[in-house]
Amino acid sequence: MMGAMTCLFCQIAAGEIPSNQVYADDKAVAFLDINPWHPGHALVIPRRHVADLLADPEALAEIAPAISATAKLLAGKLGAHGVNILSNAGAVAGQEVFHLHVHVVPRYESDPGLRALVKPDSDIDVAEIYWKITRS
Ligand code: 5GP
Ligand code: ZN
Repeated sequence: MMGAMTCLFCQIAAGEIPSNQVYADDKAVAFLDINPWHPGHALVIPRRHVADLLADPEALAEIAPAISATAKLLAGKLGAHGVNILSNAGAVAGQEVFHLHVHVVPRYESDPGLRALVKPDSDIDVAEIYWKITRS
């Protein structure tokens, strides 16, 4: 398992690699993404190493207060009118840094929002999927 010695976000959490930190508490750290999608795009991470959302059932709850605080900060300081929160778990989902992080992406007026990026797939049989999840 990857530890603090080699993990980029462990090193950011420990302050060994500099970041534009905007919020911190005893469980989590939030800092600006180095390659932002929107002004104020922040990442919230647990201080301890957790690979992703699926690896540890407690981790998201641990950083939830920091996610809320960061969203509030972006609204208050940057005038964001809304936020998207997103966590990529696994390479197939687009995860590139394998230390759990939640993207907090501020949205502004006249912003197309996430709807501009996603398209519903009408071929999906929702009833069949529901059956797989609940019956099999
Ligand atoms: P992922 O694709 O894993 O969900 O997102 C990883 C994010 O981490 C990307 O948005 C990327 O821009 C950001 N990132 C990667 N390396 C660094 C870094 O060294 N510092 C900061 N602040 N962000 C980083
Ligand atoms: Zn780590």
